[in-house]
Amino acid sequence: MSTDTTTDESRTTPPKPRRWLLTQNRQLRAEGIFNWPLPAWGGHFQDGTTYNACPEAGACAKLCYARVGTYRWPVVLAAHERNMWMVKHALADWEVQMAEELRHKRYRGKWIRLHDSGDFFSDEYLEAWLRIMRNAPEDTWFYCYTKSVSRFRRLVEPNPPKNFLWCYSLGGKEDKLLDLETDRHADVFPSVAELEEAGYTDQTESDLLSVLSDSHMVGIPANRIPMLLKRQGSETFSSLQRALDKKLAEKRQRAAEAALDLAS
Ligand code: SF4
Repeated sequence: MSTDTTTDESRTTPPKPRRWLLTQNRQLRAEGIFNWPLPAWGGHFQDGTTYNACPEAGACAKLCYARVGTYRWPVVLAAHERNMWMVKHALADWEVQMAEELRHKRYRGKWIRLHDSGDFFSDEYLEAWLRIMRNAPEDTWFYCYTKSVSRFRRLVEPNPPKNFLWCYSLGGKEDKLLDLETDRHADVFPSVAELEEAGYTDQTESDLLSVLSDSHMVGIPANRIPMLLKRQGSETFSSLQRALDKKLAEKRQRAAEAALDLAS
């Protein structure tokens, strides 16, 4: 659920232009992949107005590697929030800038990951990326993990750009819309042994296996951050989401029964 209350009137000064919009973190640089990150989940800009970069996040939010550690270092978070500000408040300008940047030779033959944190938080934002990808040079490819299942069903699946691959990721409010028999999806397991036992393909060797592996069932071993490992215990992101969905359904049922009692 979005908590966004930002209005045009409440904008702060636009962020300063910088040379490159796309960056590389340590892991992705090792594979020659460029990255477009947003901040994880919800937060607020410097003027106090709010954003929600992952409105379909569910159980994942409590186990999100991008809400702890280096992702919360002020300089890193500020850079991700600057990206969020651009796509939220200056989407048309950002689209022109991104399309222009992608024509640079440094992106020839390269993969671009959309969001190592954050997600497609609105139709407008996803549509901007679809235009950018369709107009990008032929030898630049894009991929992502996403929990925006219903948005992808409507806007991407009927006519995806040729240079775009995606993998649905479990642990979100829309897990129940996925067909795990056929939809490519990723789940986070406590360890490699457990993901293999469940019949999933380990993507540790390369992040691109999320979209290029032969199997449509992609397993990710849990991040080794002790606090997150402890929270996850022996569960997977999908099992935690199922438990959360069940709890919410029971709560709704109790509320409906209470309303009926009152009415009778
Ligand atoms: S959707 Fe991704 S970035 Fe957002 S809270 Fe969940 S795991 Fe973190």
